[in-house]
Amino acid sequence: MAYVFTPPAVVSVPVQGSADAFPVHRIYCVGRNYADHAKEMGGTGREAPFFFMKPADAVLVAAPGTTVSMPYPGLTANLHYEIELVVAIGIGGSRILASDAHKHVFGYAVGLDMTRRDLQNDMKKQGRPWSISKGFDHSAPIGIITPAAQATAVETAEIALQVNGTDRQRSNIAKMIWNVAETIEKLSEAWELQPGDLIFSGTPEGVGPVVRGDTMVGSVTGLHPISVKVV
Ligand code: MN
Repeated sequence: MAYVFTPPAVVSVPVQGSADAFPVHRIYCVGRNYADHAKEMGGTGREAPFFFMKPADAVLVAAPGTTVSMPYPGLTANLHYEIELVVAIGIGGSRILASDAHKHVFGYAVGLDMTRRDLQNDMKKQGRPWSISKGFDHSAPIGIITPAAQATAVETAEIALQVNGTDRQRSNIAKMIWNVAETIEKLSEAWELQPGDLIFSGTPEGVGPVVRGDTMVGSVTGLHPISVKVV
């Protein structure tokens, strides 16, 4: 069978130490997963996790040793960074128990959940879906994936973001309200996870705006850092 037009290429992320890439299926994101960020967004810091999605082709690969350009999106005057640990799923499943969750993890990467905050706030006020604020093109910059076996200390790693060399976000993965295993348990109650799924696991406090010309450097200790310039 042929297709009526050429299908889009598979979106993929490079893998450390491998010539083979990780093919992306879906991008799930966790909202308000660090107490101090939940508070800065107007919550109490104790809500159950909630999820939203970005399209797979929102991925913008930030290769090691380079600065990747991210075009400033339209329809916003308040583009925010959110530094996040990204969990790459290698084995799918539904109703995965937290105690089994790590068997499903292929590896980890550093990511940015870029957000049109003004549009998000407008949509929230109107009680409308806020896909337009989260799922835009190039909204998911991500570094190369470190296989789980080489990222054993990731759950107690420092996570940080600098803009133009100045610290904007700095916390620790251990401060997540719902850890990686619990997040996988909750998420897989709602969707059957598939190999190739990426989970942006939430951002710590300190989110804020960037403008054209700013360079964001994001890191999680033990993983490949990313450098992204807004153009
Ligand atoms: Mn986020």
